[in-house]
Amino acid sequence: MTDEADAVVIGAGPNGLVAANILADRGWRVEVLEAREAPGGAVHSDREVHPDFVSDTFSSFHPLAIASPAIAALNLHEFGLRWSHAPSVLAHPLADGRCAVLRRGVDATATGLAADFGTDDGAGWRRLSALWDRVDPHLVNALLTPFPPIRSGMALAARLGPADGLRFARMMALSVRRLGEEEFSDVGATMLLAGCALHADLLPEAAPSAAYGWLLAMLGQQYGWPVPVGGAGTLTDALVRRLTAKGGNVRCGTRVTSVVVRGGAALGVRTADGAAVRARRAVLADVPAPALYGGLVSWDDLPTRLREDLRRFAWDPGTFKVDWALNGPIPWTADAASEAGTVHLSGDLAELSDYAVQVASGRLPARAFLLLGQMTTTDPTRSPAGTESAWAYTHVPRHVTEDLDGRLTGRWDLAETEAYADRLEARVESFAPGFRARITARRIMSPLALEAANESLVGGALNGGSAALHQQLVFRPVPGTGGSRTPVRRLYLASASAHPGGGVHGACGANAARAALRADRLAITRVIGC
Ligand SMILES: Cc1cc2nc3c(=O)[nH]c(=O)nc-3n(C[C@H](O)[C@H](O)[C@H](O)COP(=O)(O)OP(=O)(O)OC[C@H]3O[C@@H](n4cnc5c(N)ncnc54)[C@H](O)[C@@H]3O)c2cc1C
Repeated sequence: MTDEADAVVIGAGPNGLVAANILADRGWRVEVLEAREAPGGAVHSDREVHPDFVSDTFSSFHPLAIASPAIAALNLHEFGLRWSHAPSVLAHPLADGRCAVLRRGVDATATGLAADFGTDDGAGWRRLSALWDRVDPHLVNALLTPFPPIRSGMALAARLGPADGLRFARMMALSVRRLGEEEFSDVGATMLLAGCALHADLLPEAAPSAAYGWLLAMLGQQYGWPVPVGGAGTLTDALVRRLTAKGGNVRCGTRVTSVVVRGGAALGVRTADGAAVRARRAVLADVPAPALYGGLVSWDDLPTRLREDLRRFAWDPGTFKVDWALNGPIPWTADAASEAGTVHLSGDLAELSDYAVQVASGRLPARAFLLLGQMTTTDPTRSPAGTESAWAYTHVPRHVTEDLDGRLTGRWDLAETEAYADRLEARVESFAPGFRARITARRIMSPLALEAANESLVGGALNGGSAALHQQLVFRPVPGTGGSRTPVRRLYLASASAHPGGGVHGACGANAARAALRADRLAITRVIGC
C-alpha cells in the first residue's frame, strides 16, 4: 500500500477525480482517499430500487459536465463514457393544462413557445437566445475559472462592448420574475426559466435567479441535458479508469480524519485506521468547507478570522428524493411531458414563489416544486422496454418549523419519510392521473438518508453551500479564502463549497489542481533561484 504520493486528494467525488486527473497528467503521483466503498460521491448509480432498473442515486443530468472545459479536456469518451439525450430537454406542465417545452435548438423551442403561449413569448425567447450566442463560450469559461476570470472576462467585454455590456450586467442582476415581466407576455417561457433557477436555492424574486435560470436553460438548448449511458456511475467509472491509466490510484473505504499541518503547511493526512499518507506537494480536499476548516484541519492551525467567517457559512436547503421503478410510462395529462428527460412540476409562478419562500422560512410546503427525471425516456438502457426508471426530488427546510399540510416535524423517521413521499406522489398524480398505479417499487431518500449515503451532503444539501449571491464568486465559501486557496500552504479546497459551486462540472477540482501546480512551480523556481 502506498503511503506517500505527490498529492493526496481527500474524496472521490467528481471534483476530486477531475483534480486528480489533471495532476496525474502533469506526472504527479496521486492518491485519492475515499470514505465510501465506491468512488463518485454524488455521481453514482445502483440497482437497489429494482434489480432490472438502474437508478441514479444522486445526480442525473449533466449539461454542466458537457459544457465544462475541464471535463471536455479529459476526453472521457476514450475511457468508455457515452451520452444519451431525451427527445426533449425539459417540460413544465402548468395547472391550466398547457406545457412549456425546452428543446435542443432555438427554433424548436421558440416555435413551440409561440404556438402555445403566443408570439411574444417566442420572440422574447429568441432575444434571450441571441444574447447567449453573443456571450458563448466566454460566459461559461468565465464562470468555471477562478475569480476574477481575467482572460474570458476580457473576451466577454470585447464581444459585448461597453453599452451592451452594461445591459448584460443589468440582466444578470435581475430576478427571474422581473426578467419574465420584461421579456414575455404569457407564462410559458418564464416558467421554463424559473424552474431552472430553482435548481439552486434562489427565490424567483431574488437576484441572480434570472442569470442562473437563463444559463441552465441555454445550456440545455445548446447541449441538451444529457445523461451517461448506463447510469451516472459510468461517468465516475470513466474518470477513475482514466486516472488509473495515468498512474493514479483511488483507495475506497479510507476515511480521512485529519490533515497533518506543520509550520503552516499541509504535509499529508491521517486516516480512520490510524495510517498516515504523506503528500510531497499538495493536499486537495473534496469535502465541504465546514468539514475542512475546524474539522480535518484544527482551528489551532487556522486564523481566528476564518472561524468567525465560517460561522456565517450558509448551507443550501435539504433535499428529499424518491426513486421509482414504474411498470409503464408516466401518464401525463400534458402529452408533451412524455418526451422530456426532466419535468418540472409547479402549477404557476405564484406557486413556485410560495414554495421557495416556505422552504427558506422553515415551512414544509403543501404544494412542493418537483424536479422529476424520466431516465428510461432519456437512456433506454435504464430499464426494460415499456417501463420507466424515474425519480423526483424537492427541497425541504433544513429546520422544519411548521408543516403546511399535516403534522410532519422534519424528524424524517420512517413514518415521516413515507408520509412525505406519499405527498410527493400525490403531487405527480395531480399532473399525471394513474401515476401511482404504475409504481412497482420505490426508494425514499430523506435528507438524513442522503447524508448517510455521502457525508458531504450535509442535511441533504446538494450544492456544498447556498448559491445565494452573498456566497458566490469572491464570497465562496467565505470572504478572503479566494476559492480553492486556503490559509494553510499546500492545502486546497477542491469541493463544491469553492467557486463556482455545486453541479457536476469538475471546475472546483480543476481550479484547485491548477492552484496546486502553480504554487509548486513557484516553489521550485524559488529553490532553483536560491
Ligand atoms: C440528489 C442530488 C441530485 C443532483 N442532481 C444533479 C444533476 O442532475 N446535475 C448536476 O450537475 N449536479 C447534480 N447534483 C449536484 C452534484 O452531484 C454535486 O454538486 C457534485 O457531486 C459535487 O461534487 P464534489 O466532488 O464537490 O462532492 P461529492 O460528489 O459530494 O463527493 C465528495 C466525496 O468526498 C467523500 N468524502 C467526504 N469526506 C471525506 C473524508 N473525510 N475522507 C474521505 N472521503 C471523504 C464523500 O464520501 C464523497 O464521495 C445533485 C446532487 C444530489 C445530492
